[in-house]
Amino acid sequence: MLGTMMDYPLTINHILWRLERLFPRKPVVTQRLEEGQATRSSYGEVAARVHRLASALSRAGIRPGDRVATFAWNTQTHLECYFAIPCMGAVMHTLNIRLFPAQLEYIVNHAEDKAVFLDRSLVPAFEPLIGKVPTVQLVVLMNEGPEPSAAFREAFPQVVDYEEFLRSGDEHFAWPRIDERQAAAMCYTSGTTGNPKGVVYTHRSTVLHSLVAALPDSMGLSERDVVMYAVPMFHANAWGIPYAAALVGASQVFPNRYLDAERLVNLIEREGVTVSAGVPTIWIPILDLLEKTGRKLPTLKRVICGGSAAPPALIAGLAQHGIQLIHAWGMTETSPLGSLCRMRSWLDDLPDDQKLAVRSTQGTIVPLVECRIVDLESGQELPWDGKSVGELQVRGPYITGTYYNDPAASEKFMDGWLRTGDVATIDPDGYIRLVDRTKDLVKSGGEWISSVEVENHLMAHPKVLEAAVIGLPHPRWQERPVAAVVPRPEHKDDITAEELREFLAQRVAKWWLPDEFVFVPEVPKTSVGKFDKKVLREQLAQVAQRWAQS
Ligand code: AMP
Repeated sequence: MLGTMMDYPLTINHILWRLERLFPRKPVVTQRLEEGQATRSSYGEVAARVHRLASALSRAGIRPGDRVATFAWNTQTHLECYFAIPCMGAVMHTLNIRLFPAQLEYIVNHAEDKAVFLDRSLVPAFEPLIGKVPTVQLVVLMNEGPEPSAAFREAFPQVVDYEEFLRSGDEHFAWPRIDERQAAAMCYTSGTTGNPKGVVYTHRSTVLHSLVAALPDSMGLSERDVVMYAVPMFHANAWGIPYAAALVGASQVFPNRYLDAERLVNLIEREGVTVSAGVPTIWIPILDLLEKTGRKLPTLKRVICGGSAAPPALIAGLAQHGIQLIHAWGMTETSPLGSLCRMRSWLDDLPDDQKLAVRSTQGTIVPLVECRIVDLESGQELPWDGKSVGELQVRGPYITGTYYNDPAASEKFMDGWLRTGDVATIDPDGYIRLVDRTKDLVKSGGEWISSVEVENHLMAHPKVLEAAVIGLPHPRWQERPVAAVVPRPEHKDDITAEELREFLAQRVAKWWLPDEFVFVPEVPKTSVGKFDKKVLREQLAQVAQRWAQS
């Protein structure tokens, strides 16, 4: 017997309907080029412009299913693209502006993007693609910055200014009825080997993800919140927050391209931001700035932090400033929110150090998604005992089931589960603790060492700002750990390997202690701000050479 409920599609058009009808007065603020200057608008204005944009796209020949790329920072106009493109039936393809030209060329051609919405300030980064992306017919120039050269304009069939493009559209666009399984957006994830892989989100997956993201025990978003995401809109849909915030009517504040601590703190202060999100490398310098200057951020209640492991020292440090860090885990493939760390009510009586240990885990799997851990060698499912270590696998309605046009996609799946490539334990309460990436685990004398755990301890040392641990080939032990350490500026001359070794020796097994500590001015980062261990391995290759010769 079937139910009597309407088979009403779950589409992003519904989120647009809400912000247009229920929240038109709610503010949307974008940081401008000049510090202290902002563009102020509202969801009502955004919705009106979204109508014009969709109509203009349709007039320019964009049809349902066509891929329309964005190459842009976090701004109101990017938010307008987030709604107009999928709601008119096309597929928004967010391009990662920090990729190498060869990777971008591959991605634009693989997705067959027809149009690109390009920030003026990013024209130089897009120029190397001239003559190499034949599917691109239309370039729309957005936001502040210098005008591109005549040569750039001549390189594409149509190059037009965003505001002029909007004027070419009608005031009201008749939204098509969209099948909820239709593609809404796509994002490529660049692994360390092989070509980038395309993940395609549907309308349905986006709506379900937005609902889950907003829940009280997830990001806990409400109409009363002022949300500023310091996670780029070109990475996993800015963790889905643009849609989740719009769904509930929370105001949005856009930092534009300015992600340095000083500017972000100024913006949070000025706009009364209540919830924010970003990778640990965003929050580490912010905490440092708050500590050094004594500045306070009384409005900021919560930050969602993920993308790489949040060090316990960061969680504890922000808590001292009244800011709750909610540790989250996810991937481009998981829309991206996979797990989130909230204290269960029955853990309230734990002593503080044990509470911090819980808060430092990646938390529990979010509603609608299921997880398991599987033995790396036998492929057997492992118990949730907090000790057994295996690959984390997930499945659910907003987990990708394959990759776009990729013959090698099946390697990443096992019996209907996505193989995350992350290695974890799960405790009886369901808290997931990521031990490492499969490829970053250090295998020493046949046993695993968690690089993440050693890093977390190192980053709790008062003289250390950042630390990354990698395994390097060793003639006797197969691999041994080496730590690259960035000292806090005031300690760059008095920090020693001996004191770090001694500090660690009280916290981890002796054979986990890094064989060498290398002091560096910075840890190389990936295009989305994570430690780039591949580059670090290349930089520290001479250490392994020395071992090989000794
Ligand atoms: P991406 O698809 O680029 O967002 O990368 C996803 C990967 O980032 C995951 O598979 C993890 O290895 C890593 N990651 C994300 N969140 C966390 C976290 N909270 N702790 C540790 N690693 C994380």
